Amino acid sequence: MKILTVTDIRELIQIIGLENFFKHVIAALEEDFGRWNEFILSPRHGTYYPDGVIELMPCADQQLYSFKYVNGHPGNPHKGKLTVVAIGLLSDVGSGYPLMISEMTLLTAFRTAATGVLAAKYLAREEAKSLAIIGTGAQAEFQVLAFAGFFQLEEVRFFDTDSQAMVKFSKNLTRQKFRLIPCGSIVEAVRHADIVITATAAKKRQSLFEFADLSPGAFIHAMGGDCPGKTELSAEFLHQVKLVVEYKPQSLVEGEVQQCAADLIYAELWELVCKHKPGRQNNDEIMLFDSVGFALEDYSILRVVYELAKEHQLGTESALIPELNDPKDLFGFLNP
Ligand code: NAD
Repeated sequence: MKILTVTDIRELIQIIGLENFFKHVIAALEEDFGRWNEFILSPRHGTYYPDGVIELMPCADQQLYSFKYVNGHPGNPHKGKLTVVAIGLLSDVGSGYPLMISEMTLLTAFRTAATGVLAAKYLAREEAKSLAIIGTGAQAEFQVLAFAGFFQLEEVRFFDTDSQAMVKFSKNLTRQKFRLIPCGSIVEAVRHADIVITATAAKKRQSLFEFADLSPGAFIHAMGGDCPGKTELSAEFLHQVKLVVEYKPQSLVEGEVQQCAADLIYAELWELVCKHKPGRQNNDEIMLFDSVGFALEDYSILRVVYELAKEHQLGTESALIPELNDPKDLFGFLNP
């Protein structure tokens, strides 16, 4: 079985390039959301603690089975730890044998950004040039670079309550084609933006901005609110925009839409990908993709990374599963 570490993923990105990697992941996501009915889907299993959540996220079709272990602890950075870390597993359905265990802290950041771009393909204005991001923590650069690979961004406006996080963000993005504009408030950041990403971490109900703070036609990728009681936008705001989610049974518990009735949701993402419902229908409507992170996205990136790791001979084969001459003689394995 293959083990892929954070160093292996870093090497993979160095070999194939960040933009190219995003293209692979977005294509796989579009393909998999496009065959939605072939998957065995379920909401993730969350275990809630005062400081955060630990979640298990399974997804399978008739070939592959995947699951991810992931946490969400907004107070972790104060202890020198990441808010979100993850590992994942991919198995062969035919034998039930695991094929690969992979780090998924980096892969979660990649797939969340790639899913945001997939949603934006249907929901944002094609000529979007200005992007604003609120919350410049661990996910932020991944988000911005994924969008910059798809849209001709001219400016990226950003705000965080932590000025150090804003400095880190601009250092990491100095050599990009777009202008970086640090902002003194959320409203200053979002006011003229075509694309708004909310990527804050706070275990409470927030209302980052109001409808009147946005430009007509804006697309919002609301990705920071992803737990019961952890939201970024008000119920009143949700009633004023067109809402798209990943998977209603999970989103209604965890997403911004936990604050409203199911019939307020316009569509699930797969319905746009499969052309069952149109995406954006005019240049003025404000569209919101209420992302919480869905197991299908982990499935997609794990299958991409498994193939790329084989192609580029990355990762280590490890004996986590016994190899036996006689599969009934497990006990005999103990006598070398
Ligand atoms: P992080 O802790 O590294 O960064 C979050 C940033 O938000 C911090 O810099 C913090 O100072 C800032 N912040 C908090 N409240 C703010 C406010 N009111 N205004 C401006 N900035 C504020 O966390 P991260 O790993 O970047 O994750 C961000 C959020 O996204 C978390 O809530 C996480 O759970 C969520 N997340 C969602 C998905 C998904 O699939 N939807 C995937 C990964 C992470």
